[in-house]
Amino acid sequence: FYAIFNIASAGDHVIASSAIYGGTYNLIAKTMKNMGIETTFVDPDISAEDLESKFRPNTKLVFGEVLANPALKILDIKKFAKAAHKHGVPLIVDNTFPTPIFCRPFEWGADIVTHSTTKYMNGFANSVGGAVVDSGNFDWTKYSEKFPGLTTPDETYHGTVYTESFGKAAYIVKMTTNLMRDLGSIPSPQNSFYLGVGLETLHLRMERHYENALALAKHLEKHPKVSWVSFSGLENDSQHELAKKYLPKGSCGVISFGVVGGREAAVKFMDSLKLAAIVTHVADARTCVLHPASTTHRQMNDEELLAAGVSPDLIRMSVGIEDVQDIIADVDQALEK
Ligand SMILES: *Cc1c(COP(=O)(O)O)cnc(C)c1O
Repeated sequence: FYAIFNIASAGDHVIASSAIYGGTYNLIAKTMKNMGIETTFVDPDISAEDLESKFRPNTKLVFGEVLANPALKILDIKKFAKAAHKHGVPLIVDNTFPTPIFCRPFEWGADIVTHSTTKYMNGFANSVGGAVVDSGNFDWTKYSEKFPGLTTPDETYHGTVYTESFGKAAYIVKMTTNLMRDLGSIPSPQNSFYLGVGLETLHLRMERHYENALALAKHLEKHPKVSWVSFSGLENDSQHELAKKYLPKGSCGVISFGVVGGREAAVKFMDSLKLAAIVTHVADARTCVLHPASTTHRQMNDEELLAAGVSPDLIRMSVGIEDVQDIIADVDQALEK
């Protein structure tokens, strides 16, 4: 919300990838719309030409997720950055799933990165948090008329012109002095401490998450009780080519797969798991699993589920850092049941 609202206000327009986290979709499509900010959602596979046709004179930014939760689609960062820059606006990407261990979006042209630190960065599900990271690379003064909040005096802050006083830090200083002052979202010292402790092992955990997820995905690919597996690390996955480019060393620990037998079999499978915890949370050190059709999306029938991009048999598994043989054994015994 801060990453967008810092440079867009009532009457402005945003372009966003449609493959994004549900909470972010609601924020942009409903809450921010009520505040007068309109958004055009585009398929991440959109052609460069079609993407360009979506820009309007009042477009202020482009937004997407590097690795979408839960669709697991990879954003072609270069394609989106090129279009955004051609139209004088920054590209903001949510890098929650790959984390900076596996992807550094600035190197591909993104200008601003957001993270839910609640996920891998914290790692242990003990505090909620978020971060906005500005590369300082976007030249706001070049498109001064589009970003008056950064390039004209802010009367609420001693008439400061952020680009003049803070240069490359203009965007992030405006956010802390202005939005955080007026709206809050200041993390408590205790929660900041938890995050700091978690970050110290991020590089070790991410490698293990990926290694474990890849091993489980490869195992499930051959399993007779599994109808499909989605994980960009698999060679025949629809996202594998983009993964080789943007996530060459790994992606994350989240995979999704279908259980033969549909919704009912999936419920039985979930009930039979012993090690994996059934929770909506993802990206935790412990293996967590979710069956949207019987939990978060329970109110929907099969047709509605498919329209929402969630098949009735879909299991989302956030593979943890436990011994991979224990994870595989748990999944196998539950599939057997
Ligand atoms: C969970 C999640 C969020 C929201 O984060 P919270 O910390 O739960 O508010 C945003 N983006 C992505 C990709 C997420 O997975």
